[in-house]
Amino acid sequence: MQTSKRVKAGVIGVGHLGQHHVKHFATLPTADLIGVYDINHNQAQAIAQRFNTNAYNNIEELLAACSAVTIVTPTDQHAAVAEICISAGKHVFIEKPITKTIAEADLLLKLAKQNNTIIQVGHIERLNPALLALKNYPLKPKFIEVQRLAPYTERGTDVPVVLDLMIHDIDIILSLVNSSVKSIRANGLSIMTKSVDIANARLRFENDSVANLTSSRIAQNKVRKLKLFQRDMYVTIDFLLGLTEVYRAIDADANDPLALVTAPLEQNGQHRKIAYEKPTVKKIDALRLELANFIDSIQGKATPIVDGAAGRDALEVAINIQENIIKNIQ
Ligand code: NAD
Repeated sequence: MQTSKRVKAGVIGVGHLGQHHVKHFATLPTADLIGVYDINHNQAQAIAQRFNTNAYNNIEELLAACSAVTIVTPTDQHAAVAEICISAGKHVFIEKPITKTIAEADLLLKLAKQNNTIIQVGHIERLNPALLALKNYPLKPKFIEVQRLAPYTERGTDVPVVLDLMIHDIDIILSLVNSSVKSIRANGLSIMTKSVDIANARLRFENDSVANLTSSRIAQNKVRKLKLFQRDMYVTIDFLLGLTEVYRAIDADANDPLALVTAPLEQNGQHRKIAYEKPTVKKIDALRLELANFIDSIQGKATPIVDGAAGRDALEVAINIQENIIKNIQ
């Protein structure tokens, strides 16, 4: 059922990322920002003051006043906090990864079904405008190469790099390759923490496509790049620069003003040339779009871009990669 009633929303965990959730709920026309809760009450008060809202002393009081919350606590707290919220009948947006373990994710999915509530997961890169720019291209990847590197920060180190950074790319790849994972080969290293800080994984899918992922949280500079190869098409995405480029092999006599290489080339006996395209990448705030999608889904006007089941699927692949790495290290 659709409703245009503004959704009463709160934020649990208002650290580095949570404060941006608060900022958007304060200004989204479809939401009413009710307040925030954080175990660090001083932090909750500072953020509440900045956005002219309430800092609650406990989760229960915040939940009593809301119909939806976003959970932006460290990952190891997601399951415990979400269980309280869903059991109270509230819709939840959980930052990625959905939880730390599959058993926790399964419990949340079961509870959400029983309570008829929405779970959305914050795999924000699905809304990266550089990826959205490809929406009119027929994507059937045979091979994907992706790199996500970041300088070291303590935030996120409560989980291995696979669950913190690589999971963004796992979710993107699962959304691009319409097939399930057949086999995984992975390797990794611990450098700064006791868990894995650098990881590489090769995924082979049932449809024989392949993805090669590298993630590091101890790099000098940030890199977030994806290359996708398929029959007659090669795509590169720079998620940081917001740059998407497409190269397509087209018939040599096709009248395409974008053709970069006009000299005909031979491909399987056919005369071809390469067309280069730079699809428009819109300037949008992916977090705002994600939270607006959550509210629209509660109002019955949309469905979550990344629902709880998709969040669980990405987590399952991530955990399999992590287990594969641990086996190799041992
Ligand atoms: P952070 O440490 O800066 O903030 C976490 C906040 O949660 C802190 O203020 C802490 O006091 C509070 N907190 C801890 N346990 C709590 C509990 N049980 N109840 C209420 N509050 C609690 O962390 P962050 O960098 O903002 O990350 C938070 C989450 O967001 C993590 O799951 C992380 O993976 C995710 N994240 C996602 C992205 C993305 O690109 N989507 C980027 C950064 C972080």
